[in-house]
Amino acid sequence: MAKIIQLSPHVANLIAAGEVVERPASVMKELLENAVDAGATAVTAEIRDGGMTFLRVTDNGCGMLPEDAKNAFLRHATSKLRTAEDLAAIFTMGFRGEALAAIASVSRIDLLTKPTGALSGTSICLEAGTVTEESEAGCPEGTTIIVRDLFYNTPARMKFMKSDVVEGSRVAAAVQLQAIAHPQVAFRFLRDGKEVLSTPGTGKLLDAVYSIYGKESGKMAQVESHWEGYSLTGFVSRPTDARPSRNMQTFFVNGRPVKSRLMMAALEEAYRNRIMVGKFPACVLQLQLPATAVDVNVHPAKTEVKFLNEKAVFDCIHYGVLGALNKTPDRPEVQFKSPVQPLSSAPAHSAPPAPPAHKQSSNQQSFFRTMTSAEYQAFTGAIQNAPKPSLAAAAATYAAVEQSAPAVLHEPVTLPPVFTAPQPEPVATEEPQQQMLDMPVAASWRYVGELYRSYVIVEQGDDAFLIDKHAAHERILFDKLKENPEAITSQALLTPIPCHLDPAACGALLANRKLLDQLGFEIDTLGENTVVLRQIPMDLEEADAADAIESLASDLLAGKRENPASVRDTLLHTVACKAAIKAGWHTDEKELLVLIEQVMAREDLKYCPHGRPICITLSKKQLEKQFKR
Ligand code: ADP
Ligand code: MG
Repeated sequence: MAKIIQLSPHVANLIAAGEVVERPASVMKELLENAVDAGATAVTAEIRDGGMTFLRVTDNGCGMLPEDAKNAFLRHATSKLRTAEDLAAIFTMGFRGEALAAIASVSRIDLLTKPTGALSGTSICLEAGTVTEESEAGCPEGTTIIVRDLFYNTPARMKFMKSDVVEGSRVAAAVQLQAIAHPQVAFRFLRDGKEVLSTPGTGKLLDAVYSIYGKESGKMAQVESHWEGYSLTGFVSRPTDARPSRNMQTFFVNGRPVKSRLMMAALEEAYRNRIMVGKFPACVLQLQLPATAVDVNVHPAKTEVKFLNEKAVFDCIHYGVLGALNKTPDRPEVQFKSPVQPLSSAPAHSAPPAPPAHKQSSNQQSFFRTMTSAEYQAFTGAIQNAPKPSLAAAAATYAAVEQSAPAVLHEPVTLPPVFTAPQPEPVATEEPQQQMLDMPVAASWRYVGELYRSYVIVEQGDDAFLIDKHAAHERILFDKLKENPEAITSQALLTPIPCHLDPAACGALLANRKLLDQLGFEIDTLGENTVVLRQIPMDLEEADAADAIESLASDLLAGKRENPASVRDTLLHTVACKAAIKAGWHTDEKELLVLIEQVMAREDLKYCPHGRPICITLSKKQLEKQFKR
């Protein structure tokens, strides 16, 4: 049997190095953290060859006494933690006392350090963790550490390294992260002799973010929320500027960059239903909380965190970000290319083809269908009863009615709904449309017209708005369905509609009958490949029902592994999308007016449930600029 022996300190350090020192970027991270912990206000980082042959960090921090300089490379040597009790209240959190020992064991190190106020400094050289030279040295206050030939004595590890370019970029990312984490410190980063980053060290997060992300950062929404012992500050991207990946999500806890599924989930929850599928928000978020409420020491590289109260953290981020998004005006401006394209370059007949005539008449969709009968009557009544019917008043009445008594309004209709579905016809038909529009309108906005049967133009003060009628209606319907799911009423179909689907789709629908029932669909099977619709939601046209059920089936198949709440949301999107007035089709002007009223009145109405903007702004100034006035 083999004899048990204790590992030598060198072997123990090599093992630790495997955990802490994965690649040049992790070395950089540890050295930068140490510099910040030492109270530095200016830190210069430099690498050559991706950091493999040369990596240097210079700081103007507190420096080390000669004795400490040597001890710093011993395993579990730290000045930041003395007793077990300290564990509970780590303020600096760089306390494992492992980093320098681990780095030293797999490289050649030169250290130059002088404590504040000392007459002379210390120079130490190490190879594979052993001190080879030690002397007094003249040097500035602070510390410089040079790490050369990383992994020269561990060829196995060396093999795992990627190209210098890749490793160098990871180092750059590590420097950026620290620079954002510590806006009070001025960071410089040189890569193969060229300065590629410099932050001003003003203490303002935006300044640090700006010097890294440039102008893009100006478009982000500022987050600032304080709640009990928690505070959240930083920046989040607007939903329309979402990214194709989560790469741009940066989280800090008490100043340390961390990876946290919880924080990510809380962030993304705030964007729910405003962001396009497959897109992700970008953020730089700093969470500060009592040191006792968090344990950063669960992972050797210290990027994982454990929170004592996960719900509090989740809420703090979720509501903090939500608040920031709701405050941020987000009606993106029309983007013009400059210089202006000459008119002649435009295609001669660029007007989109009008939809086929039969569609216009038979598929004309009504916005009023989506109101309950009470809502509808309130609206038409307001128009008909007003002595001198003012459009603004009508719209206001509608809005007021909707707000004041939602419970009554959404009461399910008891008669077979198909017979009570309000018809758009009986509205004040004797009043010609034009006359309505010419009436003095008290509201501060004015309906101008519709473009391409898709975009409604509204003027308000010095701004014009282009509203995507489908996106707007879809959003309004979605909110209504979501807020008041019990009020989803269905219409019984006189002739059931058969839908031919593949067996998997049929199976998914049948397995979710209850959910579909809540959404207003009653389905039955008819063989392997067919389901029959007996009831559909009131808001949905019969002609759209088969299409809707097919989309729902694919939602269900795609969302198999998701939680029920988000599957439900997806289904609501689909119903809202199918029921909404469609782009390219004719919409009655009165319906458009009601729609506009809602869009203009609701600041929070910014995105369709798929994350596309509902309304964009075209300012008078922009136009004047285009026309060179
Ligand atoms: P830890 O940071 O977890 O304490 P390290 O191995 O990273 O462990 O560092 C060991 C000790 O060396 C630190 O506690 C600190 O006292 C000292 N030290 C390291 N880097 C610096 C620096 N740049 N300036 C001053 N002291 C430093
Ligand atoms: Mg450290």
